[in-house]
Amino acid sequence: MSNETLQAVRGMNDILPDEAELWLWFEEVVRDWLHSYGYRNIRMPLVEPTALFKRAIGEVTDIVEKEMYSFADALNGDHLTLRPEGTASCVRAALQHNLLYNAPQRLYYSGPMFRHERPQKGRYRQFHQFGVEALGFAGPDIDAEQILMCARLWRKLGLCDVTLQLNTLGDTASRHRHRAKLIGYFEQHLDMLDADATRRLHSNPLRILDSKNPAMQELITAAPKLADELEDDALRHFDEVQAMLRRHDVAFEINPQLVRGLDYYNRTVFEWVTTRLGAQGTICAGGRYDGLVEQVGGKPTPATGFAMGVERLLALLQEDGMALPKAEVDVYVVHQGELASRLASQVAEQLRDDRLRVLLHCGGGSFKSQMKKADASGAAVAVVIGDDEAQANEVSVKPMQGGEQQRVSVQNLAATVNGIIK
Ligand code: ATP
Ligand code: MG
Repeated sequence: MSNETLQAVRGMNDILPDEAELWLWFEEVVRDWLHSYGYRNIRMPLVEPTALFKRAIGEVTDIVEKEMYSFADALNGDHLTLRPEGTASCVRAALQHNLLYNAPQRLYYSGPMFRHERPQKGRYRQFHQFGVEALGFAGPDIDAEQILMCARLWRKLGLCDVTLQLNTLGDTASRHRHRAKLIGYFEQHLDMLDADATRRLHSNPLRILDSKNPAMQELITAAPKLADELEDDALRHFDEVQAMLRRHDVAFEINPQLVRGLDYYNRTVFEWVTTRLGAQGTICAGGRYDGLVEQVGGKPTPATGFAMGVERLLALLQEDGMALPKAEVDVYVVHQGELASRLASQVAEQLRDDRLRVLLHCGGGSFKSQMKKADASGAAVAVVIGDDEAQANEVSVKPMQGGEQQRVSVQNLAATVNGIIK
């Protein structure tokens, strides 16, 4: 066996206690916000049948082609994948448990997602999302509500420089017409296509428009526009979304290049972007996916949703100098001697009954060294117990910010501590 120290998998991060405090705070803010819009939590497995993502996200997408952690179950050979996103699983779960057809559902989930990408700032192989899905809603009102929701969260978090990019992808018929025109157009310029684009020409020409290759930008700019193919219904839907956003003073920019990296989107798509995170500037993205439920095996059901990247949002907040008070304990219990130790664990439990946060010193040591630990713990109060106190069923209470040490009975301890903390 080698003694080499083992490290976490590249692109998968440990979140250490200091940073985890920020995560906990963030998760609480987000949950409150979701509940204020009536969204309910759903929790799906991290592992799904590979076929689910192939069917939902699309075979010829970056995610399915090269970013999935897929493997065969060593015991039975099943094809499994660590979820790269949550929408497919959420729809699968809603279908499997018959949540879909009686009433529309507002659902949210959170947790790790896995994509085999090149790790860099804001781009990891295990990252975290909050995902929000509204299943069974056809109208533009829910599209607008989801965007308004996001705007409210940014306000809550104090993020003022995120901007909204908006586009519509139309419906199936217009997408097919556009697709045929795109293929025709790119076929006339075969010599200018890179390898990726050539490969996608017939399988997913829309994705060519999403190419980041500078050499193809001119060709892409002059390509046939989906906007010229849109049907009236889709246009009206998009107009109404925009009108609602205007009524609520949510600024946006229409970006006809915005097509999103997943195949299931139609009509409204959007991204919230910042210029402060370099190339990883999208903190939240989503849109309508009316075809997905059917694609996963259900009856046609309109739906719309979005997901935000927690690491990117937290990076923004940290850049803003967001600092949280360290979660501290209220009381540190110091004790020496056998009788004192017994009383110490008893009063520690008693104080916790009183909803106080208590660190009971473990591991022995002199009073002096224990007091140092009490100081470092940030506790407002040290409870000091020697055998002398223990004999009398009393403890000494020392306010750590200065003030007189006093001796009190065990019965009066909680009241004394609370008095000092306030
Ligand atoms: P990008 O264009 O940055 O690759 P995407 O379009 O692949 O993003 P989505 O699948 O829409 O991303 O996921 C929603 C959000 O999740 C993104 O806007 C981003 O904030 C976050 N996200 C996606 N991939 C990663 C990753 N590898 N690391 C960290 N966050 C990510
Ligand atoms: Mg991506």
